[in-house]
Amino acid sequence: MPLPEEARRALAQWFRRAGRDLPWRRTKDPYSVWVSEVMLQQTQVATALPYYEAWMRRFPGVEALAQASEEEVLAAWQGLGYYRRCRLLLEGARRVVAEGWPATAKGWRAIPGVGRYTAGAIASICYGEAAPVVDGNVERVYARVVDDLATDGDLHRRAWDWAERSLDRANPGDWNQALMELGALVCRRDAPDCSGCPLRAWCLAAINGTVAARPAVARRTATVHESRTIELLWMGDRFAVRRIPPGGWWEGLWEFPEASSAGPWSEELGTFRHSVTHHRIRYRVRLRRVVEGEEGFSWRTVAELAETPMPAPQRKALGLALRYLGLAEGGPVAAR
Ligand code: SF4
Repeated sequence: MPLPEEARRALAQWFRRAGRDLPWRRTKDPYSVWVSEVMLQQTQVATALPYYEAWMRRFPGVEALAQASEEEVLAAWQGLGYYRRCRLLLEGARRVVAEGWPATAKGWRAIPGVGRYTAGAIASICYGEAAPVVDGNVERVYARVVDDLATDGDLHRRAWDWAERSLDRANPGDWNQALMELGALVCRRDAPDCSGCPLRAWCLAAINGTVAARPAVARRTATVHESRTIELLWMGDRFAVRRIPPGGWWEGLWEFPEASSAGPWSEELGTFRHSVTHHRIRYRVRLRRVVEGEEGFSWRTVAELAETPMPAPQRKALGLALRYLGLAEGGPVAAR
């Protein structure tokens, strides 16, 4: 059942009053909205915000982005994770510069990295096209308002169908943003604020007392626990790094060597934990001082590494090494 007109009005009023003032909401410029939507995939607004502002200073328009190297854009993206998004954004920018701006959601779907969600968001917000959007927030609102027991792919398909039928065709951009904002601020996954919700009167899960059980949870992939050892090779004022080959989580970024065994010449720097999807990884970090550069690596100074795109665990390992060597704030620390 799509939302009735009265419910749509209540949500629109709530959004005008309670919607957050975010920089990408102050514009209908497709480049700005595109960048924000790509960053917000799998990333919270508070995390994405400083990245967005720094990105727009560094690549203020699609031409500036299209002219940048992959290394530059990965460096600007580092810390946001899911680096494939960033590469596809660069590829997409080059396509737009070569072929012109798409004018419809259908046209946007032909741009690398732009799926149905991003195309709908850009077309509805920037051009007023009646295109729905479904992200995790909308899916959760749908599952609760309709009290739908579906999970995974079924839930996703039904949420799209509901979003299409509930869309406010006169104001699709505001409507889509209102629905996503409701999921982010009120219909939260944990502790939803039903008493302050503009859709409370039409929400079947709230009426049926099933809010905490929606969306229903499908069986999840088992957690995998692993251990890895990073061994930083240190020569004078340089560390050895190598490019991560295609096929890995962080392909194209740079990493320190991984060690399978250590000799007595390795110094223990510490351990930390990091999670990637359902993998829980315990990293052990070592330092080995060398006098000759080994082949197969790029030898970079600390200043150069600051500009080198590296995954979060590699940055943590570097932080340990810099403190250990007395090259970071706080001075040297003893090996643990
Ligand atoms: S009433 Fe509660 S469960 Fe229903 S949409 Fe609002 S916040 Fe979500």
